[in-house]
Amino acid sequence: MDFTIVGSGIVGLNCALTLRKKHPKSKILILEKGTLPHGASTKNAGFACFGSISEILEDLKHHTPDEVLQLVQKRWDGIELLRKNLGDKAIDYQRLGGHELFSTQDSELFNNCLEQLDTVNDLLLPVFNQAAFQQHPNEFGFRKIKETYVTNPFEAQINTGLMMQTLLNLVRTSRVTIMNATTVQDFTELTTGVRVKTSNFDFHTRKLLIATNGFASKWLNEEVKPARAQVLITKPIKGLKIKGTFHLDKGFYYFRNVEDRILFGGGRNLDLKTEETDNFGITTLIQERLEELLRETILPDIPFEIEQRWSGIMGMGLKKRPIVKQLSDHVACGVRLGGMGIAIGSQVGKELADLI
Ligand SMILES: Cc1cc2nc3c(=O)[nH]c(=O)nc-3n(C[C@H](O)[C@H](O)[C@H](O)COP(=O)(O)OP(=O)(O)OC[C@H]3O[C@@H](n4cnc5c(N)ncnc54)[C@H](O)[C@@H]3O)c2cc1C
Repeated sequence: MDFTIVGSGIVGLNCALTLRKKHPKSKILILEKGTLPHGASTKNAGFACFGSISEILEDLKHHTPDEVLQLVQKRWDGIELLRKNLGDKAIDYQRLGGHELFSTQDSELFNNCLEQLDTVNDLLLPVFNQAAFQQHPNEFGFRKIKETYVTNPFEAQINTGLMMQTLLNLVRTSRVTIMNATTVQDFTELTTGVRVKTSNFDFHTRKLLIATNGFASKWLNEEVKPARAQVLITKPIKGLKIKGTFHLDKGFYYFRNVEDRILFGGGRNLDLKTEETDNFGITTLIQERLEELLRETILPDIPFEIEQRWSGIMGMGLKKRPIVKQLSDHVACGVRLGGMGIAIGSQVGKELADLI
């Protein structure tokens, strides 16, 4: 084998497509432990976002303004790349706008965000060419929140399932082999390449590219930590008016409409220790809080039922930037995408392929 990629998420698949373009005749293999892609790329909330106002102000505490500008520019460019590669129809891209909501008790954060609105807009002008953040009245009738949202009209949503299906089709028609239900257990660097041990067989590859995101701590130790995120989706709600993507409580909660349903996730901050795991699962503590917020804040007086609940594993770390680096002569990785994989996944996959 010439190139072996571990993981068939957005990064692994984009890496394979870039490799195919650069090396038309090479043998490329993707190994995926799930029967389908089993990571965050098939389980996420579908926000095509750049960071809410409070998130950007938080970033400005730890990075220079220029670094924050570059971070947002990368996310913007990444979403444009995803749209260019796959087409808006194939991912059901809808620019419905994104809103940050502030709880009535969060006056300090709310006032600070409003005070800094112009400064942040000036900083991000090179990206958006107009004021990115605007004040917006509480038009959807949410309760227990300030009556003004901070809205970014450029924020959008996509259908993650469609995105992954399109990517998988492209990869398969590019003569890349995908082997599912095959876990990479270990590998050994040799002078000529890498010996790879999987749950099904051992083999030799010239280059190994690791795109396992939240499952990468096995090979990268402290640099990337798994972070479980729990989500639910309601059954269709008759006459639902809510449209767009929404961030609540500094981004610890997020929801959006999926046609006439509400997809709602978050609450990791209620029990960070338990949620630092790469085991799938849902907990009563977090699921009950999600339902409470649905009843009291998001859908007050609107009856709803939960259709489905699930969890996914993200890759987080002390720094926000992804890790795209060579680990040895024949091994490289592109991991730790945090909560921004839709925005940066295509580019990270490409950078990983370019690196090797
Ligand atoms: C619930 C949830 C909501 C999210 N919402 C959003 C959002 O709205 N917007 C956004 O931009 N981002 C969101 N994210 C984050 C985003 O989904 C991720 O950043 C992105 O999908 C990461 O892609 P990836 O390809 O790096 O990793 P993954 O998609 O996790 O892919 C890694 C793959 O590697 C496979 N694998 C792992 N170990 C092995 C092994 N040893 N052998 C073989 N295969 C292996 C896994 O099965 C998996 O398929 C969310 C994440 C979650 C969990």
